[in-house]
Amino acid sequence: MNHLLYFNGTGPAINEMFGCPCNRCNSETRLANVSMSLFAHDGNGNTEHHVLFDAGDGIAASLAQSPWLRTTNGRLDRILMTHWHRDHTLHFNRILVANYLRGLRLGVHPNNPVPVWARSGSAVWIKDLYEFEVDMHMDLQPSGEQGLPGTLIEPITFDAAPGVTVTPFALSHFSADFSLDRQDYVSSCAGFVVQGPNKKAVLFWDADTHNEKWVTDPQTAEQRQTVDLLSDADYLIIDTTKWVHLSDKAYQHLSFPNTVNIAKALAPKVTMPVHISGHPDGVNQGAWGWTDKDWQENGAKAWAEQNGPGKYVVPSIGDELEL
Ligand SMILES: [Zn+2]
Ligand SMILES: [Zn+2]
Repeated sequence: MNHLLYFNGTGPAINEMFGCPCNRCNSETRLANVSMSLFAHDGNGNTEHHVLFDAGDGIAASLAQSPWLRTTNGRLDRILMTHWHRDHTLHFNRILVANYLRGLRLGVHPNNPVPVWARSGSAVWIKDLYEFEVDMHMDLQPSGEQGLPGTLIEPITFDAAPGVTVTPFALSHFSADFSLDRQDYVSSCAGFVVQGPNKKAVLFWDADTHNEKWVTDPQTAEQRQTVDLLSDADYLIIDTTKWVHLSDKAYQHLSFPNTVNIAKALAPKVTMPVHISGHPDGVNQGAWGWTDKDWQENGAKAWAEQNGPGKYVVPSIGDELEL
């Protein structure tokens, strides 16, 4: 069995804003929120297992166009959620209903309800925001923990794809780390270490600047264990929402300087920024309206100047990473 990760989307919270004059919103390239699919296949064109990471805007179209899900290869065995924010959940309905109808009509892999793993803090929000989908098409499986950022969560294995292990870890993403009434702090966001037979990928989104501390200077045995697992990966796919720091706000998405520091600490072979747009950088500041090409050219130059480890590669929808 062969394993690969496939990019369904690479974008930030809001892609393709109507009325936005920036180059990115006006480019011809289709954009979608950050999401990946983990496929197991037999090497003869047959997809044998499909795990989806996140289900934001544009992902239903990406799955419909995925070469690994065409006709009889269509299947959805499990969804793993980083967190509950809309840009990671917006297409639950389209994906889950399409999966249900396909199963009903074709009688192949009628996997309904679909098992959906989320950290307990995020599962509460998903239940509240997506009541119909949870009732009809999801087997929502809360993680049963509220570990602090930098701690490992129980690994996930797959009976049908024994060659791959996914280990979630707690990320700080403060705008998602709340109880439903927004009164209490609840650690709710997950990253994932995906280990295949040959290669390791670290999915590090959404994340705020507080994560840099436990990665670059772990304080506890638990944090050191997490950093060890994340280190020396083949691919680090990391939230890089902004090019520069523009405010002193305590909690904000990672920017390029954070990504450089985290990559230096974890030493991956390839660092791939996602959740990129530059919109938060503001007009005439930082990377406002940069296209992926701008992020590649400017990022690679800065990567070399700042001695970033390995390669810096901006991914595109449809890119594949062998595991
Ligand atoms: Zn997001
Ligand atoms: Zn724009």
